[in-house]
Amino acid sequence: MSSLLKIAGGRVIDPLNGVDREPFDLWIKGGRVIEAPTDPDLRPDRTIDARGFVVMPGGVDIHCHVAGAKVDASRLLRPEERRLESGRARAAQHDFQGGTHGSCPSASITGQLYAGMGYTSVNDAAIAPAGAFLAHEELAETPLVDRSLLTLAGNHRYLLEALASGEHGLIEPFVRWLVRRTGSMGIKVVNPGGIESWKQGRGRITHLDDPVPEFGVSPRLILESLCKAAQAIGLPHAMHLHSLNLGLPGNSASTLETLKALSGLHVHLAHVQFHSYGGDPNDPGSLKADVTQLVDYLNSNPNVSVDVGQVLFGPTTIMTADGATAQYLAGLTGKKLLADHVELETGCGVMPIEYKDKNLVHAVQWATGLEWFLRVDNPWQVALSTDHPNGAAFTAYPELMALLADSNYRNECLALLPEAVRERSCLRELTRNYSLSELAIITRAAPAQMLGLSHKGHLGVGADGDVTIYQPSNDFRKMFAMPRWVVKSGLVIVDDTEIRNLAVGVTHRCNVQELEKEALEPIRRWWDENATTDWRSADIGSPMRDRLKPVNLRGQGGEK
Ligand SMILES: [Zn+2]
Repeated sequence: MSSLLKIAGGRVIDPLNGVDREPFDLWIKGGRVIEAPTDPDLRPDRTIDARGFVVMPGGVDIHCHVAGAKVDASRLLRPEERRLESGRARAAQHDFQGGTHGSCPSASITGQLYAGMGYTSVNDAAIAPAGAFLAHEELAETPLVDRSLLTLAGNHRYLLEALASGEHGLIEPFVRWLVRRTGSMGIKVVNPGGIESWKQGRGRITHLDDPVPEFGVSPRLILESLCKAAQAIGLPHAMHLHSLNLGLPGNSASTLETLKALSGLHVHLAHVQFHSYGGDPNDPGSLKADVTQLVDYLNSNPNVSVDVGQVLFGPTTIMTADGATAQYLAGLTGKKLLADHVELETGCGVMPIEYKDKNLVHAVQWATGLEWFLRVDNPWQVALSTDHPNGAAFTAYPELMALLADSNYRNECLALLPEAVRERSCLRELTRNYSLSELAIITRAAPAQMLGLSHKGHLGVGADGDVTIYQPSNDFRKMFAMPRWVVKSGLVIVDDTEIRNLAVGVTHRCNVQELEKEALEPIRRWWDENATTDWRSADIGSPMRDRLKPVNLRGQGGEK
């Protein structure tokens, strides 16, 4: 018999169900939210007295990098972070068990840090297909949170060959195969065609209609094909896109052109802050915010969602499949770089970075992200992210929530930045303060909805019993950094601010069926002709897949 938990008398903020009520009782049994029992004599096994506290669903991170080869590479590349960690561990507010800290903490610490600030679900947004097995093993070792991953698709040579030969009918089966073999929730496209060009030692691809060397196909064709395939299959999450020209001054024009090329389709634009700049592409110092047209487009196109990829000041690590961008950035900064290519599939770049508040370019990036949050009409279209660890480690989310909720604090921070940032961003004119309900949308309800996790991000009957209980405070950094209680699947994992156990959650995967033999055969033939690895290694295998929790395709009745 599973225990009955009552969370009594709190202010429950559950935007999906239109709830902001106090006092309100929540009941959880069997890992799920249940109706309030009608028997007045029924005694819960445990009651949390939440009177005077704010009760929200557990946080959901739609875009982070917490598992797989790139994260492991960053740990190898950055031994200096290990040297700092004993000091950090002492400074940490929780008594963490095992593992290493830094901007790329070990799996055990990652789970504890997320849970310690009230997050109960995380989605790694970029796993190379070849690295899916390893990534799943690491996610399984990440305690206290449910997990999922997206797999990289936009530079796969099978895709490029199929498009080059005009065999467009091969694309949808390819996407089905890719998602199934990797146990992922959907597809991520990074610098479509541009990584392949970089792997060939050729130049950057900067325009949607530039041909990919050797193949002659355009990024436009890659994007349209994959986006339509994801939608036709009914993947729970729309195509997740990191487009061309990340981080370059003047890239907002190509970002807008990309959105228009995908007009009418469902698409999720990742870390949109890094794609929203004006300035001269040949002058990195000319960077300025250029958000207006993009945010207007979002405001009038409900089929588009974004996560912001906020930059916050401090040292962190860049890790991206976009090796071309990492190499460019390493050239600019003189930092060490680990660049890699993944056979037939994608690339990788990892390097250290420190965002400094006295650096004008970094300050403009900080302001650009905040402009995005503050200018979006509908918070259901935006998810809070720092593109962990690229813009900042996820542990900085409470700082970001404070910047959104408290314009006085935001203006104090802005005043410390280089004067010129005020001419390069309209941030100082924005007076909006996010309400607690809006914060609950961008940190839980909206990202859960975008990912197609219908049991998450809300507290209606049947929802996962993932709950975060905060002590209200005018100091939002403090409030969101240390919830008093966190409940995961009905289990109290943070009790009076202390992590009490290392319970293991589940990893979700999209429930795509195996391809028919005739649809699988062309892929298998191609694999045997082109790959250096055995065909069986192309799949995570049934034993692992069976350990993952299937989420139904859209149109199949939501999450299983
Ligand atoms: Zn990312």
